[in-house]
Amino acid sequence: MKIINTIKNTKEYLKNIRLQNLSIGFVPTMGALHEGHLELIRKAKNENDFVVCSIFVNPIQFNNREDLEKYPGILENDISELEKTGCDLLFSPSVKEMYPAPVKTKYDFGDLEKVMEGKHRPGHFNGVAIVVKKLFEIIKPDKSYFGEKDYQQLVIIQALVKKYNIPVEIVPCATVREPDGLAKSSRNKRLTPEERKIAPVIYQILKEVKNKAGKTPINELNKWVEQQINNYKGMKLEYFEIVNKKTLQPIESWENKDCIVCIALFLGKVRLIDNIILF
Ligand code: AMP
Repeated sequence: MKIINTIKNTKEYLKNIRLQNLSIGFVPTMGALHEGHLELIRKAKNENDFVVCSIFVNPIQFNNREDLEKYPGILENDISELEKTGCDLLFSPSVKEMYPAPVKTKYDFGDLEKVMEGKHRPGHFNGVAIVVKKLFEIIKPDKSYFGEKDYQQLVIIQALVKKYNIPVEIVPCATVREPDGLAKSSRNKRLTPEERKIAPVIYQILKEVKNKAGKTPINELNKWVEQQINNYKGMKLEYFEIVNKKTLQPIESWENKDCIVCIALFLGKVRLIDNIILF
């Protein structure tokens, strides 16, 4: 696997790949790679001739300083996992390389960014859009792979690509989970052993919501979820929303099909998100 840290060298290297008529699949990440990321790489490998992964901990998408400071850096393990999975090129730029000057671009995703993660993490999706657009301009991939684990991010990236006519196909990938149901996340490692033991409750609650969907009134279901979360010491609900899959706006009745339930909570000091598609 080739590893490149500069934009100029990456562009040159990929120009040559394109001259050979090879298709390029791209997986943007922030490193600390786990099976969730590696599934994206595998899918990209199956569907493209050449796979690029980026590792860049994007400072401008963190609204919480402690979260950024605690984010693991690039690990030796990431490189060996990428090699084993068949990644062809790792692009791992420095912050200075990506942002030689402060970036002031402001994207407007309308109502899509006013709910859930957008509401609770001000500026987060603006930072995500800035970095992903820049990465697309550098890599110019044919297809790019995003996890449904970050469902709102996936919808925002699809909106970004549409708005700016970026010639890339966005491929959604199913959430990869631990055997006990907890969604894989780089943040799971920060859970204490006690917190890790109760963390699978999140997915159990989501599955129960799926069972109750369409039968239990939405406001009752909201209350039920709050009560469930309150039963667990150290768990603090940030939001629980049943939203339309495309508009991301809360649904008011079960007549609204195509919906997904999204949750964000703190388990001790660690913020976790998850979701499950209802219909
Ligand atoms: P991150 O490094 O957390 O920014 O994630 C990079 C990409 O991996 C994003 O598209 C995430 O949605 C995706 N991803 C992270 N965790 C998972 C998971 N458990 N299952 C599937 N995709 C994931």
